[in-house]
Amino acid sequence: MRATLSEHALRSTMSCAAVIVAAGRGRRAGGDIPKQYASVGGEPVLRRTVRTFASHPRVDTISVVIHSDDQRDAEEATDGFGCHLVRGGPTRQESSFNGLKAMEKAAPDIVLIHDAARPFLSHAIIDAAIDGANRHGAAVAGIPIVDTIKATDAAFQVLETVPRERLWRAQTPQAFRYSLILGAHQAARTKALTDDAAVAEAAGLPVVMTEGSEENFKITTADDLQRANQLAIRDISSTVTLIGSGFDVHAFEDGDHVTLCGERIAHSHALKGHSDADVALHALTDAILGALAAGDIGQHFPDSDPQWRGVASDVFLQRALDLVAERKGRLINLDLTLICERPRLQVHRDAMIRNLAALTGLTTRRIGLKATTTEKLGFTGRGEGIAVQAVVSLSVPDEY
Ligand code: MG
Repeated sequence: MRATLSEHALRSTMSCAAVIVAAGRGRRAGGDIPKQYASVGGEPVLRRTVRTFASHPRVDTISVVIHSDDQRDAEEATDGFGCHLVRGGPTRQESSFNGLKAMEKAAPDIVLIHDAARPFLSHAIIDAAIDGANRHGAAVAGIPIVDTIKATDAAFQVLETVPRERLWRAQTPQAFRYSLILGAHQAARTKALTDDAAVAEAAGLPVVMTEGSEENFKITTADDLQRANQLAIRDISSTVTLIGSGFDVHAFEDGDHVTLCGERIAHSHALKGHSDADVALHALTDAILGALAAGDIGQHFPDSDPQWRGVASDVFLQRALDLVAERKGRLINLDLTLICERPRLQVHRDAMIRNLAALTGLTTRRIGLKATTTEKLGFTGRGEGIAVQAVVSLSVPDEY
């Protein structure tokens, strides 16, 4: 979702959306919930899948197609990612079509369609699929078959050894030029086809295979769920946790509102600053940069540079989050302490937390936000400004 400036310049002409199909009822993996909501490595399968798309710089929007019974589970699993939730249909094909129809207005150039129950896809797989669709119209992640393939009769008697040289196992994501796959789905409404690529093939569209991976398997059985847990634990054990702290102060000046955590709050004064003076987002940005040992906000966005004048501070935060994504890391949690006598912040707390969730992709349960005074002591006590302390933790691969 987050493009760095240079990537953005290169790719801003192409928009890309993801449709994650999560409407299935599959319970073969055991338990009484559909497999896409089963817990893997301490979180729902769907959340892990969504995160991989959300952290991909070329993916602009994410729609998750869900069953009507799963509304609450889906909201919880996608909390903070800003996904659109779309109602599924009675078959996968119809669910996928519903997801495509729901983005008719936005009409992205490329759409990726992915099974929620494949949580171990990688950014490289997504890139290969997008590039394939861009060049050829339709692309399917898959793996060439290496086993010898036998065809049998009903009594399992071998009829022939099938040449395997050109056989692939198809996975998802499957990527398409949006207008092509939407049209193909409309034309395929009376046919029952097994995947979106088959829908494209039925419409006579050329489809290419791109590189998938063994880890990009679909969780179907209880064994699959166990394998998924092992992979998740391996990922966790090969990461380290980094902590960062940030601190910022802005003074009051004449004005009628302050901006804190992206929330406009009416007040007798404004905060003085080069940008929108969102002292909370500045402290948070510095905390993230601190965890990465990547300098500070002043280095990345110098006061002397006129391009940052009046800019909304979420631009600064986004840049810090881009650096986290570039290092294949992710935020674990954040905790802010806002220090001032006035304005009173308690009534704005929920709105600020929601903004932080939307900006960072964290679930609201991983966002701490406290407001305190300094008992009328010091500059905050005298009402001269607002101070904010921020602490974040990040998880990054151990090689970093
Ligand atoms: Mg500042």
